[in-house]
Amino acid sequence: MKKTVLLAAVATLASASAWAEFPEKPVTIVVPFAAGGPTDKVARDFADVLRKSLNNQTIVIENVGGAGGTLGAGKVAKAAPDGYTLLLHHIGMATSPALYRSLPYKTEEFEFLGLINEVPMTLIGKSTLPANSYAELSKWISTNGAKVNLANAGLGSASHLCGLLFQSTIKVDMTTVPYKGTAPAMTDLLGGQVDIMCDQTTNTTSQIEGGKVKAFAVTTSKRLTSPALAKLPTLDESGLKGFNVSIWHGLYAPKGTPKPVVDKLNTALKAALKDPEFIKREEALGAVVVTDNRTNAAEHKRFVESEIAKWTPVIKAAGQYAD
Ligand code: ASP
Repeated sequence: MKKTVLLAAVATLASASAWAEFPEKPVTIVVPFAAGGPTDKVARDFADVLRKSLNNQTIVIENVGGAGGTLGAGKVAKAAPDGYTLLLHHIGMATSPALYRSLPYKTEEFEFLGLINEVPMTLIGKSTLPANSYAELSKWISTNGAKVNLANAGLGSASHLCGLLFQSTIKVDMTTVPYKGTAPAMTDLLGGQVDIMCDQTTNTTSQIEGGKVKAFAVTTSKRLTSPALAKLPTLDESGLKGFNVSIWHGLYAPKGTPKPVVDKLNTALKAALKDPEFIKREEALGAVVVTDNRTNAAEHKRFVESEIAKWTPVIKAAGQYAD
């Protein structure tokens, strides 16, 4: 073996053994939205199983809400690249670059650790709305126009994307009300301070089941199969032809995180996604755990790039920007 090849092999072994015990202290997962919301719920359930493959280390969830998830993502991009600060984020990784003229991070500033799940969304309204079907809601919105308050989790959030497409499809500009996450938005919807919202089934299923909110439609192209949501029509079959929004969550580390740590986190992620308890919890909330090759770092990255390419022209056509 040539001397340079030997030296490289020795260096790789040395760096792998330096990280062999990772993690030796608690790992923080930053959730870029408020506690109690759908991203937070996925992160807490996921962390519960992830830790089993990470020396049973404590995983701390840190909620850094604001600016549609971009503040939390920016915080992780600038964190020490040692595997102890991670980001669990959703489709905002693909939509924010099209929505903001400047972001506190670049997509290239992350290591991709694997996709976790896919989650449909639902269009819901406060319980006192004078509408009991999508057709009635549509009439009520046309009559009230800008007086309708549409809640979201800020520019770049999933609820924002869904609400933006909804408004541009029906050609009505409503008044959008941004929150640090859809947990506080749901509190206001339950209290009747806002009228409607588009949000993940992971946050809406129990409120729909409990009759606390009115559910008008699902945003996917096909009806859902979960018992609580199967009766809901799709927006597509309700007249909004081609409407199809489903979101996803993935795990990220700051760029430059050592390869042995990235590999260990990816192996732990794959093990967590096979955990029957996690799969069951996600299914009950209408989410689907990813089992295909997007759980690999390279495929996860390619998928996010394809989502950026897919959503950028759609967002630009819908005509919305932030600074
Ligand atoms: N559901 C939120 C969104 O619209 C985020 C959250 O609160 O988890 O992106």
